[in-house]
This record gives sequence, structure tokens and C-alpha cells, in this order.
Amino acid sequence: MNLVLFGPPAAGKGTQAKKLVTDRGLIQLSTGDMLRAARASGSDLGKQVAEIMDTGGLVSDEIVIALIEEQLDNNPNAAGFIFDGFPRTLPQAEALDASLKSRNQKVDCVIRLCVEDASIINRIGARFEKQGRPDDNPETFKKRLEAYHTNTAPLLPYYSKQGKLTEVDGMADIDTVASSIARVLDTNGNGKQVEKPSFWARLFGR
Ligand code: AMP
Repeated sequence: MNLVLFGPPAAGKGTQAKKLVTDRGLIQLSTGDMLRAARASGSDLGKQVAEIMDTGGLVSDEIVIALIEEQLDNNPNAAGFIFDGFPRTLPQAEALDASLKSRNQKVDCVIRLCVEDASIINRIGARFEKQGRPDDNPETFKKRLEAYHTNTAPLLPYYSKQGKLTEVDGMADIDTVASSIARVLDTNGNGKQVEKPSFWARLFGR
């Protein structure tokens, strides 16, 4: 099961992804976390992306696609991946499809966490106070939100046309959102019941 968690910054994607890692044994691939780790390590990549991240822009497609490819290569036997904060542009979405296809896989489900901008701005204010993440400062966050509306939200029709998109109310509390996501995954993300193995298949393991 490969899942894209979709939504604006601070919609709760990271929190929900971590729950899914625990509950379903999926691997979380957060390009934001990878880029922050690169910065913390002082690598060339970290230095290259620092300014873009600090000003709320998008790192180049090439860089984030390479980061994802590396993780897909490193985890050939994964039960599935949760893509968190990726893809953020159409070329990224297309690259992800191609990359999964070359591995005989696909994006199975896209869950959009719907949160209103006003509520996100409140949330982020609180997160900035608590964690002091530099790109959460009001000025930069505004740019990140703009980047979402300009570059990322246009992916919604891309996934909708493929019949993969399901919307979940992201304004509810964490556990309620988690239950909504679980319901979507258990019905395979498109309202169809996941095919359950028959009694005989379960008994004889086929
Ligand atoms: P996030 O923690 O996902 O909000 O990401 C933090 C920052 O990392 C973003 O504001 C971007 O500068 C950069 N970033 C993370 N993921 C991507 C991506 N898929 N494409 C481009 N830039 C990204």
C-alpha cells in the first residue's frame, strides 16, 4: 500500500504519517525531514537547500525526486510507503508514478487532509512558539502556504482523475483524523471494500 498524504503545511501530515508507521508498518518518506537532516549534517546538499527552505520556497524537483528514489532503492521489501510532503509539483507526481511503475508498484491512495488556511495559520503560530522552527515564522509560513496553493494544490485534479483521491476532515482532533484515515485505507481509498481472502484461502494460505 503506497499512500500519499496530501495537504498544506501544518495540516497534520507528519503526525498522521507517524501513526501509520506504528499501526501499519509502512515507511514514512518525508522530503521535509530528509532536507532538514541534510542541513543538520552540514552536507553540500544541506547547504544548497538552506536558503530556499528558510525563505519558504520549493527545493528543485531534481533534488527531492533523487531523495525519494534513494529511499525506494534502500527499502525494496517495504510493506508500503507514506509519502509526506511529496509530491509537491506535477513533475514530482509524474516522477513518482514512473518510479513506482518501474518497481511494479503504484500510488494506491491519496488522502487529502482538508484544513482551512485560517486554522493552519493559528496552528503554525503555536508550533513556532513551541518548536521555533525557523520556516514557521509568520513571514516564511505565508510563502509556504502560497507555494502550496500555487504549485501543490493543482495536483488534486491529477489524482482525482485517477480515482485515487479521498478527502478527510483535517480540522478534527488527531485521533478522529486517524480513524478517518484508517477507514479510507480499509476501504482501499475509493470506497471499495478491500477484497478479503476467502475462508478457504485463509485456511490453506492461498
Ligand atoms: P515540510 O516539512 O514538508 O513543510 O518541508 C519544509 C521545506 O522543505 C519546504 O518549505 C520546502 O522548502 C522543502 N521541501 C520539502 N518537501 C519538498 C518537496 N517535495 N518539493 C520541494 N521542496 C520541498
